[in-house]
Amino acid sequence: MRLEQIGLELSLDNIDQQQPPIASITNSRSSSGNSSSGRGTSSTFNSTTSSMSTRLNSEFESNMFFVSPTEPPLTTTKPPEDVFEELDVLGTGSSGNVLKMRHRESGKICAVKQMRRTLNDEENKRIYMDLQVVLKCECDNIVRCCGYFIKESEVWICMELMTTCFDKLLGSRQKRPLPERFCGAIAASAVKALHYLKEEHNVIHRDVKPSNILINEKGQIKLCDFGISGRLIDSIAKTRAAGCIPYMSPERIEMESSYDVRADVWSLGITLFELATGRSPYAECSTDFDILARVVKDDPPSLPKDMDFSPEFRSFISDCLTKDSRNRPKYKQLLEHAFIKSHLNTVVYLNELD
Ligand code: ATP
Ligand code: MG
Repeated sequence: MRLEQIGLELSLDNIDQQQPPIASITNSRSSSGNSSSGRGTSSTFNSTTSSMSTRLNSEFESNMFFVSPTEPPLTTTKPPEDVFEELDVLGTGSSGNVLKMRHRESGKICAVKQMRRTLNDEENKRIYMDLQVVLKCECDNIVRCCGYFIKESEVWICMELMTTCFDKLLGSRQKRPLPERFCGAIAASAVKALHYLKEEHNVIHRDVKPSNILINEKGQIKLCDFGISGRLIDSIAKTRAAGCIPYMSPERIEMESSYDVRADVWSLGITLFELATGRSPYAECSTDFDILARVVKDDPPSLPKDMDFSPEFRSFISDCLTKDSRNRPKYKQLLEHAFIKSHLNTVVYLNELD
């Protein structure tokens, strides 16, 4: 193990080589059967081999906003500050703020992720990855992207507004565990979303954690943030360092030569453990190094015996947290797991929680 090499180097150099030309973003909507609606047809990107910063400057000029999935997008050259009215701050992450905003022209309310943009190629790649995947996704368990605006120093990504994420929810409950039914609904939604990403877009998420799983008032649970997602080549990712430490799988930490979707399965296991118990299995670790060492050296976490969980849930967590990734299930197998099968139609509402 080479722990000293890990230190979150968000280098995405390899990803760039794995990407199709940026032009594929433009027609993604129309190619998925919505061409007659005009979706995604207002803007033209050219593929190019120039640097990412040049690409973002020259090719994302046509900002667009979808008022409805069936209407052609609205385009404008106005600065986004004039297009949107800020209503609230929803949260702040490593790439910037997420704000609740009103699209002035249509009145539509959405969540806008404002990502800082330097002319740094790595950061631009991260933005590019976000746009590439989110614009193409049409899945009930993935947060819908409804537009983007490129500014000199920022990119704004407009998303459907959700009520909260599970990280905030746990915090607002003073870390009281979520009922198993909630964990079941979250697990089924996440497995469906991750399976969709892999099957339809050949992508692994690489940042599965409670803050990237959101819920709305209708009880819909959706995954977001593919900013550090990797497109798979032959089902194998060759980049390793992105992700949030406590959710990172042993094989990613150990810098094995490659990893696949099962790294996200591990992250999902840690996420569900945290939501079901109210605390991370690595909560008492004081440094990132301690966490990394424990993930690699210790037996995998298992749900505490003194808490009341069904055998199916215990078995699901144990499967997700199989230390040897070669023995860890992929999504097809997880979709057949009794825990997931029993929760495929479970709908949970925030107002059920005490
Ligand atoms: P990190 O940047 O380290 O991955 P993060 O996921 O918390 O952390 P962001 O992705 O920037 O950071 O999100 C910040 C917060 O904004 C989230 O915690 C979430 O609560 C909120 N949020 C994000 N997207 C939406 C959305 N579509 N609707 C409602 N709230 C959202
Ligand atoms: Mg996030």
